[in-house]
Amino acid sequence: MSGPIARPWIEKLDIYVGGKSHVEGIEKPVKLSSNESPFGPSPKAMEAYLKEATALHRYPDACYHDLRAALAKKYDIEADQIVCGIGSDEILKLACRAYLEPNDEVIFSNHSFMMYPIATRSYGGIAVEVDDENFTTNVDHILAAITNRTKIIFIANPNNPTGTYLSTSEVERLWKNIPDNILLVLDSAYAEFVTEDDYQAGIELVQKSKNVLMTRTFSKLYGLAALRLGWGYACPEISNTLDKIRDPFNVPTPTQVAGIAALNDIAFEKMAKSHNIKWLEILKNELCAMGLEPVPSVANFILIHFPDHKNKSAEAANEYLLKHGYILRWLPKQGLSHYLRLTIGTEEQNLALIDLLKKFMET
Ligand SMILES: *Cc1c(COP(=O)(O)O)cnc(C)c1O
Repeated sequence: MSGPIARPWIEKLDIYVGGKSHVEGIEKPVKLSSNESPFGPSPKAMEAYLKEATALHRYPDACYHDLRAALAKKYDIEADQIVCGIGSDEILKLACRAYLEPNDEVIFSNHSFMMYPIATRSYGGIAVEVDDENFTTNVDHILAAITNRTKIIFIANPNNPTGTYLSTSEVERLWKNIPDNILLVLDSAYAEFVTEDDYQAGIELVQKSKNVLMTRTFSKLYGLAALRLGWGYACPEISNTLDKIRDPFNVPTPTQVAGIAALNDIAFEKMAKSHNIKWLEILKNELCAMGLEPVPSVANFILIHFPDHKNKSAEAANEYLLKHGYILRWLPKQGLSHYLRLTIGTEEQNLALIDLLKKFMET
């Protein structure tokens, strides 16, 4: 007996391996490896979530009316063009499921979000990685890679794991130069952190286009990663298409209400943003002073370049930090073996990390 055989592209997939969250011999390690909020969830979101405990026997609102209304109000956008998902990861996958035939091509940058190749390959698509430039998405490289099999372009803006961003005019230039049958996905998971004037998350472009999908998440600034809540915004044709293929009850009620409460917790949002602005600057300066090279970031994390020589390498730093209970992200499989990605933590965590790195560099 041989049993059932999965579709050929599914047979070839690897199982996703997430970031470390345990260190042997350390009871409570400090996890600065997944770009999570250092403050936990907003207290208002927690309260709303807990209140739902007595109603767990009820199916959720399948069209999440209140959540869409809250998003529409906050961003001044059309509620019926919003699709919600189990994290924005689900929206990325829905896009692939809706628009890819096996062997269609999907373009994204080489140092970019790990979900893009996973989502592409799980629907039989071919992942086409193009080189970035100084760790920034390069529009010309993307344009040069387009063929008549290209169906989707993924851009993380700001980009993970590099923290760099693409200006409004560069995004616009890309959009103007692609055929309109190609879906441009603007993954704006870190948009809430960006303060640059020449940055837009994608709302304006969605509103004048028929081929742009913006995705957003509650996992980062809003600190709700465990609840898995993300959303997408696109023209009615695209948002209806994605709505047709999502599961009817994909977003649980406790997630919906916590999301709404988080959106309305302006004080939490302000506090988290200003903390991030302050520590991006301090960490950047401290890292440079130690002789390390941070990639310029506008997000809530920093990609740090370590020296080549063995006892000061990124791998050695990673081991040293782990031994002291600090988990950062080392991504050798993404061609970043000389780098560690650091998520901005609380004040106390950041100061302790700076001390540890100084000691590492001095000894
Ligand atoms: C974290 C992240 C997401 C968000 O994923 P969720 O599924 O919403 O938790 C999306 N895109 C990028 C680039 C990210 O780094």
